[in-house]
Amino acid sequence: MTRIANPRPTEEDLKFEKTIRPMNFSEFIGQEKVKQNLKVFVEAAIKRRESLDHVLLYGPPGLGKTSLSYIIANEMGRPLKATSGPAIEKPGDLAAILTNLKDGEILFIDEIHRMPSIVEEILYPALEDFNLDLIIGQGPNARTYKLSIPKFTMIGATTRAGLITPALRGRFGIIHHLDFYSPGELKDIVERTAGILNISVDDEGAMEIAMRSRGTPRIANRLLRRVRDFAEIKADGKITASVARDALEMLEVDQMGFDEIDRKILDSIIDKFNGGPVGVGTIAASINEEKDTIEEVYEPFLIQVGFLIRTPRGRMATEKAFKHFGKEIKAHKKLF
Ligand code: ADP
Repeated sequence: MTRIANPRPTEEDLKFEKTIRPMNFSEFIGQEKVKQNLKVFVEAAIKRRESLDHVLLYGPPGLGKTSLSYIIANEMGRPLKATSGPAIEKPGDLAAILTNLKDGEILFIDEIHRMPSIVEEILYPALEDFNLDLIIGQGPNARTYKLSIPKFTMIGATTRAGLITPALRGRFGIIHHLDFYSPGELKDIVERTAGILNISVDDEGAMEIAMRSRGTPRIANRLLRRVRDFAEIKADGKITASVARDALEMLEVDQMGFDEIDRKILDSIIDKFNGGPVGVGTIAASINEEKDTIEEVYEPFLIQVGFLIRTPRGRMATEKAFKHFGKEIKAHKKLF
């Protein structure tokens, strides 16, 4: 079962997100700087009748990378073809995708950091000169064929910018990082979704959900759905602050938006490892969770809210984390 505060999408999220995905810049709330920049690039490309430069969007899951990619395509008036890094297994798979594109079309590659390196290598000339160098055959009979492909725009999305090779990174003309959203922005997102789905939620109810959404629109929308179920059964369908609070308490999402895994991670660092520093692999083993999930899904938000810091020797819980869990901090650990 996917936990409620995990920003990776569930099947249910994906189905539901199709109905509420913002389709243009004005519907996309927050990320003002990124939006302003992209708007300028899109307008300039349209004016020059050129395809847009390749775009790389990075940041934790659920912050709007896919949505922004669809918006870019929509604003450019071009179709978007979507795939993902792990789905492109062989150079031939990529060649089939690229040769089927038309001039100006957008190719969206999610989780681009998981693309195999043999595929990545043939992507370089495709991005740079719109050429594909294909090797047909093996050994002494192998021949290289140069194939020219349409002038497409690639939009790559990744949760792990650090895993993108410098060579690939260098091929993107436009690179943007998406940040966690403020409670005010998340409140607007909750209200927008409630409007589309005809859910009755007052100001304070929307804020209560926003505050516990870990800066992440996907989680805000997910919590709204769960709170609505609760409100329908227990409170005539209207989401007020107290209905939201009761529902979220039942779902075991605390005031910080932490769920069971966040609590386990912090508990483990504080209790088992004396506040750290401790390696993320050790934390993962001690709570029986995947290292990748901790690094990609949980840790960014714990760092953002100042509960965890990354040091060269490992992760450390901060004084704020000790206080939140009512734990005594050892004198020698008072570094923060
Ligand atoms: P990512 O690709 O970064 O994982 P998505 O673009 O799939 O994130 O966003 C998840 C969902 O959150 C979207 O379907 C959309 O409903 C909502 N969402 C994300 N960002 C925004 C935003 N800025 N404004 C409104 N809704 C948003």
